Amino acid sequence: MVSKERAGAGSVDEPTDQLALRRANLSRTLRHIRTNGPRSRAAIAAATGLHKATVSSLVDELLSRRLVREIGTEHSGAAGRPGRGIALSPDVGAVGIEINVDYLAVHGSDLTGRTVIEKRVSFDAKGRDVERCLDDLTQAAQRSLAELVRRGVTPVGLTVAVPGLVDVARGVVVLAPNLGWRDVPVATRLAHGLDPDLWIGVDNDANLAALAEYTWGVAAGTDDLVYLTGEVGVGGGVIVNGRLLRGADGFSGEVGHLPLDPGGDLCGCGRVGCWETKVGLAELVRRATPDAAYGLEQGPIPDPEERVAEVLRRLGRGDKAVAAAVAEVGRWLGHGGAILVNLFNPRVIVLGGYFAELADHLIPSAQANLARLAVASTAARCHFVASHLGFTAAARGGAGVVVERMIEDPTAVSLAPAPTLAAAR
Ligand SMILES: [Zn+2]
Repeated sequence: MVSKERAGAGSVDEPTDQLALRRANLSRTLRHIRTNGPRSRAAIAAATGLHKATVSSLVDELLSRRLVREIGTEHSGAAGRPGRGIALSPDVGAVGIEINVDYLAVHGSDLTGRTVIEKRVSFDAKGRDVERCLDDLTQAAQRSLAELVRRGVTPVGLTVAVPGLVDVARGVVVLAPNLGWRDVPVATRLAHGLDPDLWIGVDNDANLAALAEYTWGVAAGTDDLVYLTGEVGVGGGVIVNGRLLRGADGFSGEVGHLPLDPGGDLCGCGRVGCWETKVGLAELVRRATPDAAYGLEQGPIPDPEERVAEVLRRLGRGDKAVAAAVAEVGRWLGHGGAILVNLFNPRVIVLGGYFAELADHLIPSAQANLARLAVASTAARCHFVASHLGFTAAARGGAGVVVERMIEDPTAVSLAPAPTLAAAR
């Protein structure tokens, strides 16, 4: 790092301070517009307490960075002529990609939060070695980024969501038991195949999904919530007092490996009786539709939604064995949920992934067991609710993280007037 020469005892890091102040004011302006909608320069000045000339200069810079645009006219509410409204730009955006055991999910959105791309494809991560997975992931990223560009949105960053322990600062997946990954430098590897200016992040899928849930979901704004990914693996994203709980090393939320049954089945992590061996999708499928269990596939592996649809079809036909299997998974869901309630006292436990699709059948037995096992009587005020964000919650959260980073420091974004992408080749 280059330090400035100090001219004398009275010298302070004024230019640095001014840059930091400028950056903070750019962020404040952008955040104000995001929270309150399009505003005139005069209205922004009045609300933030910044000088009008300062706001004009800040808006000019945000316009040149293409993070905002001018729209129509807007009355400032004060006397005087109406000013042009300043709105967030739909020309700049981000992509989130989730890689999971049996699917890839993509979400692309612009700075206004508008969804530009949302898709999921079945993907056999277990049937590919790490290198092949990373090649496929890179190609999926290239295609998604190129599609965003085709739709008129310049991507500034990408976050990869992974079901496992992630060293977020280095972009390394430390351990993802269900993918069979250990110490995989995902960010570095992806950077080789993508535009060098693109910011690339890697994070835990449940953490990203919890952020998406807190921002856009069914329990948005609930300051104490737990989000559970309902996939082959089960992860938890814990929001406490409005902030994501990460722990000392960023590895909190591995709730799928809560050891609940010492005499239980072997888990993907190598231990026995983990919560996900009771409530993970593979276990539900094994119990409810053993003929369609994981590992028995002939040909392409089914999408998780197809497996759940089959369970729902059999429930619809009144299959008692399937109903019993689902209720048993629900009871275990309540059992682990009680531990989370004892630890974190959340107001809601949001059920994501397959849990959401089977929520009507899982929640009654889960809620009953939660009430029975949680110590505090306030457990009655914690409810399981089904997420509306589906299997793309983590990808959506991934795009959201990039947008949040952009709003936190608008100067970190350098946008070429004509975007070029390695992806477009
Ligand atoms: Zn485990």
